[in-house]
Amino acid sequence: MVNVTFFGVRGSTPCACESTRRYGGNTACVAVESIGRDPILFDLGTGLRFFGLTQPHDGTFRGTALVSHLHWDHVQGIPFFAPMLADGARLDVYAPVDGPGTLDDAVRSFMSPPYFPVEIEALPGRFRFHEVLDDVIDLDGAKVTVAPVPHVGVTVGYRLDIDGVSIAYISDHQQPGVGATRVDQRVLELCNGVDLLIHDAQFDDSEFAHRADWGHCTIDYAVEVAARSGARRLALFHHDPAHDDARIDELRDHAERRANGRGVEEVLAASEGLTLSFCGADAR
Ligand SMILES: [Zn+2]
Ligand SMILES: [Zn+2]
Repeated sequence: MVNVTFFGVRGSTPCACESTRRYGGNTACVAVESIGRDPILFDLGTGLRFFGLTQPHDGTFRGTALVSHLHWDHVQGIPFFAPMLADGARLDVYAPVDGPGTLDDAVRSFMSPPYFPVEIEALPGRFRFHEVLDDVIDLDGAKVTVAPVPHVGVTVGYRLDIDGVSIAYISDHQQPGVGATRVDQRVLELCNGVDLLIHDAQFDDSEFAHRADWGHCTIDYAVEVAARSGARRLALFHHDPAHDDARIDELRDHAERRANGRGVEEVLAASEGLTLSFCGADAR
């Protein structure tokens, strides 16, 4: 059994509002857990703090983070991840690097004064950083495929094949233009036939028309990616902070209508605390 739990579903910035309570206000963080394995995380946004509450705080924590890129909404949970406050804990972080320095340099730059008072080396747990862009990684028999995704700055998407279950994570995806249906070939390959596609769903058509170069896409484009790649289940993700619960309900219904007859079995809007369970052919 592979469980996928959403701890943060919001894009751009956290929004702790009464009107967003049902879907949740924390930024990107999704946990993939399977019995006998260390947890695998997609992104380390503010939802990471709440994932940390479910994990051991005695130094026995081990895990892997697959980070799409280093924008704030995808890394801001790192300093507040309590399991790393214990000696012996370990987190392997895979991420692309944007610019001349190393990934370690980039993380140190935002986790140091004046931006944050505690440097990453001061945490008792050990972080190990691994730069990725176009790679295949083996995690104890689980296969991680990494490929670049169009966004603003260097960004990747992930496909995780684990215990007979396939999950694609495309959190921030620049649509090529208003009404566009062309999808990057590498993105289609990552998403090909997956059991679950977690995809950027930041804008409706009118919002995108005014923000066409902000690095994101429309609900319709998310459906297009799912349908074209043969994804079985689409989870709308990276909700715009301006979209309240009622608006996300509407957008999900709209997406379901768009997906109708195109082979996508289910469309859902990711919400904080939601767990999706999958029984893979070779589940442990
Ligand atoms: Zn983002
Ligand atoms: Zn971004």
